[in-house]
Amino acid sequence: MKNLKDYEEDIYKCSRCGLCQSVCPVFKATLNECAVSRGKFNILNGIIKKELNLNKTVKKYLDLCTGCNACKEFCPSKIDVKKIFIAAKAEYYKKNKISVLEKIINSYTLFKIGLQFGRIFFSIYRFIGLPRILKYFEKVICKTGILGKRILLLNSLAHGRYKNKLAKSKHKTQKAVYFEGCFNKYINKETEEAVKTILSGSNIELIKKNFECCGVSYLNDGNIDAFNKLLNKNLEMLKDDFDFVLTDCASCNDVLKNYKLFTNKETAKKLAEKTIMVSDLLKDFNFTANKKYKVAVHKPCHDTYDFIDIVKNINGIEYIEAKDFDKCCGFSGKFALQNQEISRKISKQKAQSYLDAKVDFILTTCPACQLGLNQGITEILAENTKEKIPEVMNLFLFLAKYCKTV
Ligand code: SF4
Ligand code: SF4
Repeated sequence: MKNLKDYEEDIYKCSRCGLCQSVCPVFKATLNECAVSRGKFNILNGIIKKELNLNKTVKKYLDLCTGCNACKEFCPSKIDVKKIFIAAKAEYYKKNKISVLEKIINSYTLFKIGLQFGRIFFSIYRFIGLPRILKYFEKVICKTGILGKRILLLNSLAHGRYKNKLAKSKHKTQKAVYFEGCFNKYINKETEEAVKTILSGSNIELIKKNFECCGVSYLNDGNIDAFNKLLNKNLEMLKDDFDFVLTDCASCNDVLKNYKLFTNKETAKKLAEKTIMVSDLLKDFNFTANKKYKVAVHKPCHDTYDFIDIVKNINGIEYIEAKDFDKCCGFSGKFALQNQEISRKISKQKAQSYLDAKVDFILTTCPACQLGLNQGITEILAENTKEKIPEVMNLFLFLAKYCKTV
């Protein structure tokens, strides 16, 4: 992995044109120049020239970024901002003394304990039928303040059970190692069940392994030591032969493909070529919805536009293109925890565009985006809205639960 100094030339490429301001969701929500890539490059320039210290305040500004990459797409100099910010944050961890408490909070062990706890908690939660009860009272609960909104956000993760078995596809027998994102593995269990349901009639042999988290939040935070530990553990489990690695989360998909940037291992190179999303397998499936739903999509920053065609091709639905359907939802894991108000503001604006589109469902392929969209909906609900509230759902769950193959 490159150091910050190695990106000196890229940083100099910034002409200070300011075009990135027009696409940066964090800048739009804060009007803070430090939130946008131009501002961060000014700071990093000062650090490279040793005029500024890479301290906690600078890290805070670097964290004012959802990693959506919108500025990279728009930048006339095509600067890969995300890589530069990650390198700068990694340098912060190397140069500064991190307190024991901070280390514990950021440790993977604590994160995993949280996920294990989440798995047990949500199993009981669903078993006693709380999701429906809370959904019924959501308009009241969201007005109790931030705690109520957070409870509803958790509630949005718990969907009901379903039974469906889809028809056979034309795929030839292939071995697919299933990398279920940790959120789907521990909390959103229905997504895994949905993927299995969709592929149950296919000739794809799903191989399950006990993978660790892909490491996305550690990578985005610049905590490269923690990220590398997870990368090595995951690569170790991929030594056997496989035709492809199948992911059900757009963020995991993106990170697995980029493992090769952090290691020379052959498996990482193979992973870059062989990692695909579940949606990549569904292009020749013919889905028919069981009702005429109005459906919109949210394109996660790390997914391609490809999955949208699958949605558009579902027989019987009405596809509505919501405004800004491909803009960042404002959640982005740790960003939402570190910058709660900004995150909620971005999510709310995003959710409003779906309410304006008057759809029944918002489909997406990333669990963090599901949280972002639900976070925005909760903000709107708290304002006594009379508008129709769409249900945010993982695409694979929608296909398994509300569609048939013909
Ligand atoms: S768009 Fe690119 S070149 Fe222009 S200010 Fe932003 S980062 Fe710099
Ligand atoms: S990656 Fe997204 S949030 Fe980060 S600076 Fe660029 S546009 Fe803003």
